[in-house]
Amino acid sequence: MNYYSENTIVYLDGKFIAATEAKVDLYTQSLHYGYSVFEGIRSYRTVTGETKIFKAHEHYSRLRISADALNIPFDYTVEQLIDATYQLLEQNNLQEAYIRPLVYSPANMGFNKNTESHLLIAVWEMPLFFGEKLLRVKTSSFERPNPKAFKIHAKAAGHYVNSILASQEAKADGYDEALLLDSKGNVAEGTGANVFYEKDRVLYTPAEGNILAGITRATVIDLCHEFDIPVVEKFFKPEEIRGADSCFYCRTAAEIVGLESLDDVPFKLKWEGSLGYVLQKTYSNLIREHKHAQTTFILDRDSVELAEVETNHDAAKLVGTTTSNVVMTQPLTGTKS
Ligand code: PMP
Repeated sequence: MNYYSENTIVYLDGKFIAATEAKVDLYTQSLHYGYSVFEGIRSYRTVTGETKIFKAHEHYSRLRISADALNIPFDYTVEQLIDATYQLLEQNNLQEAYIRPLVYSPANMGFNKNTESHLLIAVWEMPLFFGEKLLRVKTSSFERPNPKAFKIHAKAAGHYVNSILASQEAKADGYDEALLLDSKGNVAEGTGANVFYEKDRVLYTPAEGNILAGITRATVIDLCHEFDIPVVEKFFKPEEIRGADSCFYCRTAAEIVGLESLDDVPFKLKWEGSLGYVLQKTYSNLIREHKHAQTTFILDRDSVELAEVETNHDAAKLVGTTTSNVVMTQPLTGTKS
């Protein structure tokens, strides 16, 4: 994959410069010890043709929280960075883009604190991280980093050695992705994604504590509340997921992607009949600010009928509920960021 060309502009330490001109110090602590923090953000072309960075505030706030957690100086405001990113997108002529801010250290072969840091923002076009197909996932032999050994709520580069090892192991064994457990044997997350599973029209996701609780995960939970879809955050073992009704991963780069199987045990529902499918479609409307898209779902035990209609009506309402059938009408009112 080509991340840049001769025409690409990056934002480095407050300046817009050609990617081909940008230099990094080979003696930075970040390169040698994985001591840096980053974000993965997406921008979209909305239905009205504007460029909109999805959850910009949440992502840049998390970047600041990550830098603080690792004692890395962070000398920008969230608003400055959002503004710089919109300018960068424009300079690169991009609307639908993946945005990668990285805060890294100066030259320092020791372990001591630095008085300054560098900030890079790069943007490029990136298809959905996992594509569109359902994933075959394997429980990893690698555990997620122990929260007592790392600041796991921080998006720190060094943590991703764990992700790389787990992902490579799953692929070498013929799977698309890995599912990692925590040190107590509870389900934690994917290599760079949060996980939800569905059982009897209720969604379950690992509680916070051993995961990077993603911005997409929070968005999914918000959508569940809007839709009156029951969602439970709790600790659970992988046996609960294997053979459940359905399951999905979510992350900014991949949005919402369904799983076909875990450890070769298939999920019971067809993806198109799952709550994950409803949320995938709804998320897709939300990120492109389909403000007047009213999405009607008719859920029964093993199928979802889905119809999307244009409307100006914008009051969310539950149309009808029975024990086996839930009929919901959900207009979207845009992002909350
Ligand atoms: N967990 C990990 C370990 C991740 O790297 C990511 C991707 N940032 C996520 C979860 C999902 O986070 P988000 O939805 O904020 O992209």
